[in-house]
Amino acid sequence: MRSNPRHAIILACFLTACSTTPVSQTDTEGASSSVDHAQVSSASDTSVTCSGVAIPSQSEGPYYTTNTPERTNITEEGTVGTPLILTGRVLDEECNPIAGAWIDFWQADGNGEYDNVGFELRGHQFTDDEGRYRLETVVPSEYPGRPPHIHLKVQAHESSPIITSQLYFPDRAGNATDSLFRPETIVHIVNEGDTVQATYDLIVSRE
Ligand code: FE
Repeated sequence: MRSNPRHAIILACFLTACSTTPVSQTDTEGASSSVDHAQVSSASDTSVTCSGVAIPSQSEGPYYTTNTPERTNITEEGTVGTPLILTGRVLDEECNPIAGAWIDFWQADGNGEYDNVGFELRGHQFTDDEGRYRLETVVPSEYPGRPPHIHLKVQAHESSPIITSQLYFPDRAGNATDSLFRPETIVHIVNEGDTVQATYDLIVSRE
Protein backbone atom coordinates (compact mmCIF):
# COMPACT_ATOMS: atom_id res chain seq x y z
CA MET A 1 0.00 0.00 0.00
CA ARG A 2 2.61 2.49 0.98
CA SER A 3 4.94 3.59 -1.71
CA ASN A 4 8.58 3.16 -1.10
CA PRO A 5 10.18 5.56 -3.55
CA ARG A 6 13.70 4.63 -2.83
CA HIS A 7 15.13 6.06 -6.01
CA ALA A 8 13.37 9.36 -5.62
CA ILE A 9 14.68 9.49 -2.14
CA ILE A 10 18.26 9.04 -2.94
CA LEU A 11 17.95 11.67 -5.62
CA ALA A 12 16.24 14.02 -3.21
CA CYS A 13 18.99 13.54 -0.70
CA PHE A 14 21.57 14.48 -3.25
CA LEU A 15 19.71 17.51 -4.49
CA THR A 16 18.54 19.06 -1.29
CA ALA A 17 20.07 16.94 1.36
CA CYS A 18 18.11 15.01 3.86
CA SER A 19 18.31 16.41 7.29
CA THR A 20 18.10 15.80 10.94
CA THR A 21 15.94 14.86 13.78
CA PRO A 22 13.48 16.52 16.00
CA VAL A 23 13.49 17.03 19.65
CA SER A 24 11.34 16.82 22.64
CA GLN A 25 11.11 16.98 26.31
CA THR A 26 11.57 14.87 29.13
CA ASP A 27 14.08 12.36 29.11
CA THR A 28 17.38 11.97 30.53
CA GLU A 29 19.45 10.57 27.79
CA GLY A 30 19.58 13.90 26.32
CA ALA A 31 22.84 15.11 25.10
CA SER A 32 24.73 12.13 23.86
CA SER A 33 23.74 12.05 20.22
CA SER A 34 24.23 15.74 19.69
CA VAL A 35 27.44 15.49 17.76
CA ASP A 36 26.08 14.03 14.57
CA HIS A 37 23.11 16.32 14.61
CA ALA A 38 25.16 19.35 15.42
CA GLN A 39 27.12 18.70 12.26
CA VAL A 40 23.92 18.65 10.33
CA SER A 41 22.65 21.78 12.02
CA SER A 42 25.71 23.71 11.03
CA ALA A 43 24.55 23.78 7.46
CA SER A 44 22.62 26.91 6.66
CA ASP A 45 19.13 26.48 5.36
CA THR A 46 17.80 23.93 3.00
CA SER A 47 21.17 22.47 2.17
CA VAL A 48 21.29 20.19 5.13
CA THR A 49 22.60 16.73 4.74
CA CYS A 50 20.87 13.66 6.07
CA SER A 51 22.53 12.40 9.22
CA GLY A 52 20.67 9.09 9.17
CA VAL A 53 20.34 9.41 12.93
CA ALA A 54 16.82 8.91 14.24
CA ILE A 55 15.04 11.55 16.25
CA PRO A 56 15.70 11.41 19.97
CA SER A 57 12.59 10.36 21.81
CA GLN A 58 11.57 12.41 24.81
CA SER A 59 8.49 12.82 26.93
CA GLU A 60 5.52 14.74 25.66
CA GLY A 61 5.21 17.18 28.57
CA PRO A 62 1.97 18.22 30.24
CA TYR A 63 0.10 19.83 27.35
CA TYR A 64 -0.53 17.13 24.76
CA THR A 65 -4.10 16.67 23.59
CA THR A 66 -5.34 13.67 21.62
CA ASN A 67 -7.80 13.67 18.75
CA THR A 68 -6.42 16.80 17.13
CA PRO A 69 -7.90 17.99 13.84
CA GLU A 70 -6.19 16.97 10.62
CA ARG A 71 -4.84 20.18 9.13
CA THR A 72 -1.61 21.79 7.96
CA ASN A 73 -2.51 25.28 9.20
CA ILE A 74 -2.83 25.08 12.98
CA THR A 75 -3.45 28.79 13.54
CA GLU A 76 -6.93 30.08 14.25
CA GLU A 77 -8.62 33.47 14.18
CA GLY A 78 -6.60 35.77 16.44
CA THR A 79 -3.67 33.45 17.02
CA VAL A 80 -0.82 35.52 18.48
CA GLY A 81 2.66 35.29 17.01
CA THR A 82 4.91 35.82 14.02
CA PRO A 83 3.79 33.60 11.14
CA LEU A 84 5.98 30.56 10.64
CA ILE A 85 6.02 28.06 7.82
CA LEU A 86 7.88 24.91 8.75
CA THR A 87 8.52 22.35 6.04
CA GLY A 88 10.48 19.16 5.80
CA ARG A 89 10.26 15.47 5.22
CA VAL A 90 9.92 12.32 7.23
CA LEU A 91 12.86 10.09 6.31
CA ASP A 92 13.98 6.66 7.33
CA GLU A 93 17.47 6.02 8.65
CA GLU A 94 18.70 5.45 5.11
CA CYS A 95 17.39 8.87 4.17
CA ASN A 96 14.50 7.52 2.14
CA PRO A 97 11.30 9.57 2.35
CA ILE A 98 8.33 7.97 4.08
CA ALA A 99 4.98 8.67 2.45
CA GLY A 100 1.87 8.72 4.60
CA ALA A 101 3.73 9.23 7.87
CA TRP A 102 1.61 10.74 10.65
CA ILE A 103 2.82 13.88 12.42
CA ASP A 104 0.95 15.55 15.29
CA PHE A 105 2.13 19.06 16.24
CA TRP A 106 1.34 21.19 19.28
CA GLN A 107 2.91 24.32 20.66
CA ALA A 108 2.58 27.55 22.62
CA ASP A 109 1.68 30.80 20.85
CA GLY A 110 3.61 34.05 20.59
CA ASN A 111 2.84 34.77 24.24
CA GLY A 112 4.11 31.41 25.40
CA GLU A 113 0.60 30.13 26.09
CA TYR A 114 -1.00 26.81 25.16
CA ASP A 115 -4.65 26.34 24.29
CA ASN A 116 -5.61 23.60 26.71
CA VAL A 117 -9.32 23.88 25.99
CA GLY A 118 -9.58 23.85 22.22
CA PHE A 119 -7.18 22.95 19.43
CA GLU A 120 -5.50 26.23 18.62
CA LEU A 121 -1.93 25.48 17.50
CA ARG A 122 -2.63 21.78 17.49
CA GLY A 123 -3.13 19.52 14.51
CA HIS A 124 -1.98 16.41 12.75
CA GLN A 125 -1.18 15.68 9.12
CA PHE A 126 0.25 12.97 6.89
CA THR A 127 3.27 13.27 4.62
CA ASP A 128 2.72 13.32 0.87
CA ASP A 129 4.04 10.82 -1.66
CA GLU A 130 7.52 12.29 -1.33
CA GLY A 131 7.49 12.21 2.44
CA ARG A 132 6.96 15.95 2.77
CA TYR A 133 5.05 17.89 5.39
CA ARG A 134 4.16 21.57 5.63
CA LEU A 135 3.09 23.27 8.84
CA GLU A 136 1.61 26.77 8.91
CA THR A 137 1.84 28.15 12.41
CA VAL A 138 3.43 30.94 14.45
CA VAL A 139 6.82 31.17 16.11
CA PRO A 140 6.27 29.97 19.68
CA SER A 141 7.55 32.11 22.53
CA GLU A 142 9.37 30.93 25.57
CA TYR A 143 7.46 30.22 28.76
CA PRO A 144 8.80 29.86 32.28
CA GLY A 145 11.55 27.31 32.27
CA ARG A 146 11.50 26.52 28.56
CA PRO A 147 12.95 28.11 25.44
CA PRO A 148 10.73 28.34 22.33
CA HIS A 149 9.90 24.87 21.00
CA ILE A 150 7.40 22.93 18.93
CA HIS A 151 6.24 19.56 20.20
CA LEU A 152 5.54 16.73 17.83
CA LYS A 153 4.74 13.08 17.56
CA VAL A 154 5.69 11.19 14.43
CA GLN A 155 4.85 7.68 13.27
CA ALA A 156 6.19 6.16 10.08
CA HIS A 157 3.39 3.63 9.62
CA GLU A 158 0.34 2.56 11.55
CA SER A 159 2.21 -0.27 13.18
CA SER A 160 5.36 1.74 13.89
CA PRO A 161 6.26 3.13 17.30
CA ILE A 162 5.17 6.71 17.91
CA ILE A 163 8.17 8.96 18.51
CA THR A 164 7.60 12.05 20.64
CA SER A 165 10.00 14.94 20.29
CA GLN A 166 10.50 18.72 20.15
CA LEU A 167 12.03 21.22 17.75
CA TYR A 168 13.95 24.30 18.84
CA PHE A 169 15.05 27.58 17.31
CA PRO A 170 18.61 28.77 16.84
CA ASP A 171 20.23 31.37 19.07
CA ARG A 172 17.50 31.60 21.69
CA ALA A 173 18.76 32.71 25.08
CA GLY A 174 16.97 29.94 26.93
CA ASN A 175 18.45 27.12 24.90
CA ALA A 176 21.67 26.97 26.85
CA THR A 177 20.03 26.72 30.24
CA ASP A 178 17.21 24.33 29.35
CA SER A 179 17.94 20.80 30.54
CA LEU A 180 15.70 19.29 27.87
CA PHE A 181 17.17 21.25 24.97
CA ARG A 182 18.68 19.17 22.17
CA PRO A 183 20.85 21.08 19.69
CA GLU A 184 20.37 18.39 17.08
CA THR A 185 16.72 19.28 16.77
CA ILE A 186 17.12 22.96 16.03
CA VAL A 187 15.20 23.93 12.91
CA HIS A 188 17.07 25.45 9.99
CA ILE A 189 15.95 29.00 9.33
CA VAL A 190 15.51 29.72 5.64
CA ASN A 191 14.02 33.21 5.82
CA GLU A 192 13.43 35.60 8.70
CA GLY A 193 11.00 38.03 7.03
CA ASP A 194 7.49 38.94 8.15
CA THR A 195 6.84 35.26 7.82
CA VAL A 196 9.62 33.06 9.14
CA GLN A 197 10.41 30.05 7.00
CA ALA A 198 12.19 27.08 8.47
CA THR A 199 12.86 23.50 7.57
CA TYR A 200 13.52 20.30 9.44
CA ASP A 201 13.58 16.66 8.32
CA LEU A 202 12.35 14.09 10.82
CA ILE A 203 14.29 10.84 10.72
CA VAL A 204 12.57 7.78 12.10
CA SER A 205 12.95 4.05 11.94
CA ARG A 206 10.86 2.41 9.23
CA GLU A 207 10.14 -0.59 11.47
FE1 FE B 1 6.07 22.82 25.76
